[in-house]
Amino acid sequence: MQCQIAVIGNGAVGKAAALGLAQAGFEVILVAASNTPVAVSPEWDARVFALNHTARNLLSKLKVWDALNLQRIAPVEAMHVMDEDGASLVLDAYSANQTEMAWIVEDQNLNQALDAALRFAPRLQIVSGKSESITPDFSELTLDNKTVLQAQLWIGADGAQSWLRNQAGIGLDYRAYGQRGVVCNFSCATPHHGVARQWFVGEQGIIALLPLPDQQVSLVWSAPQALSETLMSESTEQIAARLARYCGAALGELTPLPPQRAQAFPLQFIGPHSMTAPRLALVGDAAHVVHPLAGHGMNLGFGDVSALLDAITQREAWRACGDQRVLQRYARARKEDVLLMQLTTDGLSRLFGAQFGPIKTARNAGMTLVNKFPFLKKQLILQAMGK
Ligand SMILES: Cc1cc2nc3c(=O)[nH]c(=O)nc-3n(C[C@H](O)[C@H](O)[C@H](O)COP(=O)(O)OP(=O)(O)OC[C@H]3O[C@@H](n4cnc5c(N)ncnc54)[C@H](O)[C@@H]3O)c2cc1C
Repeated sequence: MQCQIAVIGNGAVGKAAALGLAQAGFEVILVAASNTPVAVSPEWDARVFALNHTARNLLSKLKVWDALNLQRIAPVEAMHVMDEDGASLVLDAYSANQTEMAWIVEDQNLNQALDAALRFAPRLQIVSGKSESITPDFSELTLDNKTVLQAQLWIGADGAQSWLRNQAGIGLDYRAYGQRGVVCNFSCATPHHGVARQWFVGEQGIIALLPLPDQQVSLVWSAPQALSETLMSESTEQIAARLARYCGAALGELTPLPPQRAQAFPLQFIGPHSMTAPRLALVGDAAHVVHPLAGHGMNLGFGDVSALLDAITQREAWRACGDQRVLQRYARARKEDVLLMQLTTDGLSRLFGAQFGPIKTARNAGMTLVNKFPFLKKQLILQAMGK
């Protein structure tokens, strides 16, 4: 099978890349390791993303945003960050003359809207299979079902353990955070008022409660490995009882929402040394994995897709889409955003993980200081919004 561009990996980032390129007029193949349609359940998905303005702009451009079930999306109007010693920081959209900082969107909502858009995409074929081998010149790729694909450009959207990244021999920096993200949903007795709350709780990790529609919240607890195992062995009522200590005053009693089962995801830092190789561009978690404390992995991935679409569609007419210069432009366009997010998330996880007295004092003073300087605060808000 031949195409101009083949996207390997059908996570949300790969789907968005394939969709954008097909809409721009390219012949595209999207390789889907598992091609079963997303089952949309009436229950709230424990996997949610805080999508910022960068993500929303891309999804709007791809005509996906309006295909989302908007009843199931909650706007985030402010963020409250607190630490175990009582220091706090409030970031709100209003201070940056905006109405929303982000939107909480369920994984199933996002994927079913992307799937619906893909069905109408021109010049796009979805091929089932897992990539298994590629020729040394990256001209021909074979799937595990022996389908052979030829493309001018391969897009590696195959996640944190990217097979394509390995085939290209791209080295990486890796660190396991020794934590897992434990997620589940609750209803709360007190309205959340569109506020995303985050508590840095020292050796207990980082607790985030993100607003869902009505009086409901979604938990992302970045818990040290041993605690995450305890949490996963407990009922969601027991997890709610633990949370009461931190969020009782703000949200009142928490009641678990069905399916009343937490899920856990390992947290790691993966920093590949390059986002490109000859005839290859990496996007999403294949290109960078960051700590979810700032809720930005998917946002970075959608930022990659926007930049890649720009680099490819704005290339000179005589350049192929896999041209090295086009790929260099893509890598340059992403460098600053990716580095900033890697440094911010990694730095914050270390800073708030520190139990050394003087570091804690400096950290608390820093939070108080940011609160007092509207300009500094506005910059932080705009960065969180992806603006
Ligand atoms: C607890 C937690 C909370 C998070 N919260 C947020 C948040 O609030 N906001 C945010 O922006 N981000 C958040 N993130 C990050 C976000 O989940 C990821 O960045 C995002 O899901 C990455 O999407 P992706 O499409 O790049 O990769 P994936 O979703 O991993 O998709 C990769 C795809 O590639 C396929 N694949 C793999 N190997 C092959 C192969 N050999 N051949 C073919 N296909 C292959 C896989 O089957 C999969 O479908 C969070 C992460 C965690 C862990």
